[in-house]
Amino acid sequence: MGTPRFVYQPLPVRVVFGEGVLGDLPAEVDALGLSRVLVVSTPGRRADAERAAAPLGDRVAGVHPGAVTHVPAEVAAEACGAAASARADGLVSFGGGSAVGLAKAVARETGLPIVAVPTTYAGSEMTPVWGMTADGVKRTGRDRRVLARTVLYDPSLTLGLPPAVSAASAMNAMAHAVECLYAPDASPIVSLMAEEAVRALAGALPEVVRNPGGLPARTRALYGAWLCGTCLSATTMGLHHKLCHILGGSLNLPHAETHSVLLPHVLAYNRPAAPDAVRALGRALGRDDPARALWDLSGSLGLPRSLGALGADAGHLNEVVAQAAGGGFANPRPVEEAGLRVLLGNAWEGRPPA
Ligand code: NAD
Repeated sequence: MGTPRFVYQPLPVRVVFGEGVLGDLPAEVDALGLSRVLVVSTPGRRADAERAAAPLGDRVAGVHPGAVTHVPAEVAAEACGAAASARADGLVSFGGGSAVGLAKAVARETGLPIVAVPTTYAGSEMTPVWGMTADGVKRTGRDRRVLARTVLYDPSLTLGLPPAVSAASAMNAMAHAVECLYAPDASPIVSLMAEEAVRALAGALPEVVRNPGGLPARTRALYGAWLCGTCLSATTMGLHHKLCHILGGSLNLPHAETHSVLLPHVLAYNRPAAPDAVRALGRALGRDDPARALWDLSGSLGLPRSLGALGADAGHLNEVVAQAAGGGFANPRPVEEAGLRVLLGNAWEGRPPA
């Protein structure tokens, strides 16, 4: 088979990876010429964020521990106010997708550069994708202004991430790699990253859950998460991300766990239309049926495997089908109602993917 026509546009993010690279934070902030950064975190991680930023000394203009999931518009407005009153010239996000998401919201308004220090596997720090929720509706978009300038991946910062949060955020990351493999704008190098990402994460996760304080598995998982974030930044996501967006928005389900429940089912749905992706995932997971392999993996990690277990009332199934049916978004297999009902029915009840 010949190499298909493709477009690949790498994005200019500087990535510093390895145990102890948090120690590089002052030098990386200096390299960007920043002297008054606002540190952004979730409320529960304020003390950790302050400790991490302490070596920056008086280059810290303020700490804003206001991040919550899905970036409510009023939370974003408050953070913009904090950046203005601190006269910040840059942002340091310390934490997972919620902290990066809030920093992105400020960057989108102000153009301030972001240095991201991720502590989960969600992958947002590698993407120019922003999200914001107003009146119960989450909007997302792409904007180069929200792309982090520098990302410091220090696996020692993930040692305290609870096993359940680790596993769910890693499945969220894996969804980026899976959908990247059948994206309309896939390219050979990004597909290599996606396959390697799934191999790294699936290989590391059982050990991460068994021994959350073990650095080698944490390092491998964070490496996989970085690759997944790169996949998300480079390609257009399909049905899986669309369904998670609908379920997260209208039923207010937990983000990472929703990804984890749906991923095997969406892969099974797309399987007939994405043979190359299935082969790549089969190699990465060491199984001929990667959809079933992902379902088995999430079970072995102790993750919920049904939307019902996440609190979703099955009475909403028709509403979700109606919002997704007919497509209008990228997906290798046409999105039709009967197939969606099977997919969502299995996901709702916790049955294996079919
Ligand atoms: P999160 O950032 O909300 O973190 C989950 C919880 O874990 C929080 O309570 C946080 O304080 C805590 N935590 C984080 N790191 C920790 C650590 N090392 N030790 C102990 N506790 C820790 O969750 P997430 O899954 O990282 O991100 C989810 C959000 O990210 C969603 O809003 C999602 O939409 C967004 N997201 C965006 C993109 C994008 O490209 N824009 C990509 C993926 C996810």
